[in-house]
Amino acid sequence: MAEIRIEKTAHPKEKPDSGNLSFGKYFTDHMFVMNYEKDKGWFDPRIVPFAPFEISPAAMVLHYAPEVFEGLKAYRRPDGSVQLFRPQENIARMNRSAERMCLPQIDPELFMEALLALVRTDSDWVPAGEDTTLYIRPFLFATDPKLGVHAPSMCTFAIILSPVGPYFPEGVNPVKIFIEKEDVRAVRGGTGFAKCGGNYAGSLRAGERAEANGFAQVLWLDGVEKKYVEEGGGMNIMFKIKDKVVTPALLGTVLPGITRKSVIEMLKSWNIEVEERLVTLEEILTGIKNGDVEEAWCCGTAAVISPIGEFATEDEQYTIGGFKSGPLALKLYHALTDLQFGRTEDSFGWTVRVA
Ligand SMILES: *Cc1c(COP(=O)(O)O)cnc(C)c1O
Repeated sequence: MAEIRIEKTAHPKEKPDSGNLSFGKYFTDHMFVMNYEKDKGWFDPRIVPFAPFEISPAAMVLHYAPEVFEGLKAYRRPDGSVQLFRPQENIARMNRSAERMCLPQIDPELFMEALLALVRTDSDWVPAGEDTTLYIRPFLFATDPKLGVHAPSMCTFAIILSPVGPYFPEGVNPVKIFIEKEDVRAVRGGTGFAKCGGNYAGSLRAGERAEANGFAQVLWLDGVEKKYVEEGGGMNIMFKIKDKVVTPALLGTVLPGITRKSVIEMLKSWNIEVEERLVTLEEILTGIKNGDVEEAWCCGTAAVISPIGEFATEDEQYTIGGFKSGPLALKLYHALTDLQFGRTEDSFGWTVRVA
C-alpha cells in the first residue's frame, strides 16, 4: 500500500473559541488528498495544508455532478483521548455511493489509514467542550476536463475536518417538520440511497421554503405516490407506535444511516421491537391524532437524535406528545452520545481509538 506523505503547514491557524462553533464554518490546518487516473489507479496519498483545489473549468463535477461524500465525527473522551464511531460503516457506504455514480472504489484499509492519520495530525483541533466534536468530511469527485458525458476517468478524493459545536446548544428540544408535497427527494432506481451532492442540490428549495416558515426540516414522501414517509430532511425518521419502533425500510430511496442502524441495534438490545417497513403518511397522521404515535424523531450523525414535536401542512398541525421530547428519544440520545464520547463502556464494539 502507498505510504501517506505528510507535509505540515508552516502557518498553523488560530483555533476558534470552542464556545462559539457553528456547523462546518471552521476548518483545521490539514487535509488528506489523493488522485485517481484510470490507467494509474489511486496515487499520491498525502496530508497537506488545507488549501483550495485547482481544477479545470471543464471538470466533470462542475457540469454533471459525479460527487459523493461522507460525514462522521471524532469525539474527545473524558481521559483526553480521541475516538471515531463506526468509521468502517462510512467507508463501506462511500464505496456503495461511488459505485452508483461510476466513481472509483477506494481501498477500505487505505481510507481508514487516511482517516486516522489526518485526525492524528490535527488532533489538537478535536474540541473538548460539552457535545463538541471534530466533524470529518470525506468526499470524492470527478475532475476529467471534458464535457463529454461518460463515466469519470480522473478523480480527487479528499478529507477535511471541521470543529463543530453542540447541535442543541440549549439542550435537546423538539422541532417542527413541514410535510413536503411538491418536491421529492428520491425515486426507486434513482440515487436516494447514495450520499451524493446531487440529492442535496435537489432538496435545497423545499428546505429553504420550510425554514422560511419556521420549520426545522421537511418530511420527504415517496417520489411516486407521495403516500409513504421516507426521511426527515437530511436525516432518517422513526416513530414510536405503541410498544414498537417503526422506521421506513431501505428500498433504494432512503439513505442507509449509520445512526439509524445503531439505533435499531440498540433498541433490539433493549428488547424493543423494531419494524422496518413501508410507513404511510396516513398511518402517522391518524396515529398522532388518536395517540398511537407516541414519539417521533429524526436521526443522523450531526444531531444524533432530533425529537419531532409537530408535523404540519399549509393548513393543519399535528402535535406529538404535547410538543415535548419523548422519553425513548431522550434515552437513545443519551445512550448514543455517552457511547460516542466514551462516557460509557462500548459493549457493541462500535468505537475506534485514534489517539
Ligand atoms: C447522511 C444522511 C443520513 C444519516 O446518516 P448517518 O450515517 O446516520 O449520519 C440520513 N439521510 C440522508 C439524506 C443523509 O444524507
